Amino acid sequence: MVSSIVSFPSPFLMSSPRFQAPKGVHDILPDEHLYFTFIKKVVRHRCREAGFRRISTPIFENVEVFARGIGDSTDIVEKEMFAFETKGGDKVALKPEGTAGVVRAYIEHGMHMWPQPVELYYIEPHFRYDRPQKGRFRQFHQFGFEVLGESDPALDAQVIALAHKINLDLGIADRLTLQINTIGCPNCRKKYREDLINYYTGKERSLCENCQGRLLRNPLRLLDCKEEDCQILASMAPKFENAIDEECKEHYALLKEYLTELKIPFVENSHLVRGLDYYTRTVFEFWSKSEGAQNATGGGGRYDGLVELMGGQSTPAIGYAAGIERTIDYMKEAGIRPPNKDTVHVFLAQLGHIAKKRSLTLLNALRERGINAVGSMGKDSIKSQMHVADRHKAQYALIMGQIEVQEDTIILRNMTKGSQEILPYEGIVDVVAEKIGVKKFDKRKLWEE
Ligand SMILES: [Zn+2]
Ligand SMILES: [Zn+2]
Repeated sequence: MVSSIVSFPSPFLMSSPRFQAPKGVHDILPDEHLYFTFIKKVVRHRCREAGFRRISTPIFENVEVFARGIGDSTDIVEKEMFAFETKGGDKVALKPEGTAGVVRAYIEHGMHMWPQPVELYYIEPHFRYDRPQKGRFRQFHQFGFEVLGESDPALDAQVIALAHKINLDLGIADRLTLQINTIGCPNCRKKYREDLINYYTGKERSLCENCQGRLLRNPLRLLDCKEEDCQILASMAPKFENAIDEECKEHYALLKEYLTELKIPFVENSHLVRGLDYYTRTVFEFWSKSEGAQNATGGGGRYDGLVELMGGQSTPAIGYAAGIERTIDYMKEAGIRPPNKDTVHVFLAQLGHIAKKRSLTLLNALRERGINAVGSMGKDSIKSQMHVADRHKAQYALIMGQIEVQEDTIILRNMTKGSQEILPYEGIVDVVAEKIGVKKFDKRKLWEE
């Protein structure tokens, strides 16, 4: 039935379009994946070590999950969501962040019946219709963790410690400063809102348009506006310290005590409020030492009211999320190269029908032995196959032509030194394995990680 498949409309054949990835998204090419793989490995290792288990929530959720879980008046929900209606009329959105989906899952699967606190981590793509710029993509990747079911500030310290440890492992911790703050509970915030509204009333005309709009809805957001005039006003605004109640003050004091105990350096930043409405008490971010908030790698905070807000029982919780693309930028700036396990150990070149047939078995045997082996399967000359071996940066080449086949030998070429020797075909796999220093491949290893 081949004929029915091939039916190109002729106009497209005349001028085939040059496709590009949509604006603001990017391909992750193999070299970039070295970083992704390494980061994932570190995150998995450190989370597992701390008792966290992995969760994946769907790429899209009912739009209401985010409207409620993130907050209607946030930039994310107001402007940046990829929201659409399905053919069945459901209003859904691609997930712009990880917490709302995890909380929805916590409630849906009755995780309050699990031993508390429930500790989960994720490594997932997220989507925001943001203005594309350096390090900001419309599809980006985040890893993050959430701890649900416990309100003790010792957990806040442990979540921060886990994030810090991952930054250390990735070699970027010394480029970042940990900024912390408390934004209190709804009671403290209510009082503070009033203080702020009183302060800004009469000064509306000095505010940017965004801030004018959100003064009455969410005056806390005015404190982290990036517009210069708004920043000047924010610097003179009433301080939260005057509005905070005793319990929240105590929680914050303990957090600082625990971080000091853990020897994690931090900076107190009373203007740190985070863009999401659901945070309570502890908020924190890892800022660039040179560029400040512009290039935070990640951040998080406590969200004690969110589970209840989304229809569950009252459940204290805290979480953290970091941008993987941003983290990679920092690793590159720091000159960190993750290990490259894609190295080609051996390139196998062959000439002639029998050599090609033999090379199929030999490739298999090399790979079974744990040697990364690539073979040339074309009909090119040995010389041009050697060029390909160079481009693969292969450590060794094995060369098998008609003479070698007749004499049951094979040529082993050291690609860095340029030297070569003729060896018996029999037992060549062991010889190569020893030169490269690979251990015998054990299938059970696949079950270890
Ligand atoms: Zn409070
Ligand atoms: Zn503003």
